[in-house]
Amino acid sequence: TSTRSGYLPDEAATLGLGASLAQAIIPGMVIFLEGDLGAGKTTLTRGLLQGLGHQGRVKSPTYTLVETYPLASLTAHHFDLYRFNDPEEWEDAGFRELFGHDTLCLVEWPEKAQGLLPQPDLTLALAVADDGRTYRIHAHDAQGIQCLSRLSI
Ligand code: ADP
Ligand code: MG
Repeated sequence: TSTRSGYLPDEAATLGLGASLAQAIIPGMVIFLEGDLGAGKTTLTRGLLQGLGHQGRVKSPTYTLVETYPLASLTAHHFDLYRFNDPEEWEDAGFRELFGHDTLCLVEWPEKAQGLLPQPDLTLALAVADDGRTYRIHAHDAQGIQCLSRLSI
């Protein structure tokens, strides 16, 4: 099926979902991360990148817009477009070229660059609920569905 949802009671569970995704993702995928400030988007990205073998920090690319992680299996680009307000910057910075068949692109606040971004294979929405978070993953194409079917959660 094309959706998956559940509850993440604590930060470790969010990191765990990221780690599970790391085992399921396919190079070339684009994942949109939706949810308010503090919903857990960067935490999930940290779990995913660590699951792909990244050691060390994952800092929020709030000011740089993108942080790049060359990993063993692929290169990951983590965008945070919260402060993005100029479509020209997208073109000038060459962000378009970062999307390709051998990269993984994770995008926080994709709605800030609507119309400039490629279509996502997956959207993952997080929301605060009680002391934890709810998540909902939606697959938009065959690659996304394949990824969800490989997801061990
Ligand atoms: P965002 O990138 O969406 O703004 P962050 O990943 O920076 O959010 O997370 C904000 C806070 O939420 C962090 O302090 C993190 O520890 C906490 N957090 C993440 N997942 C959970 C969870 N499942 N339950 C409770 N707190 C969480
Ligand atoms: Mg964030």
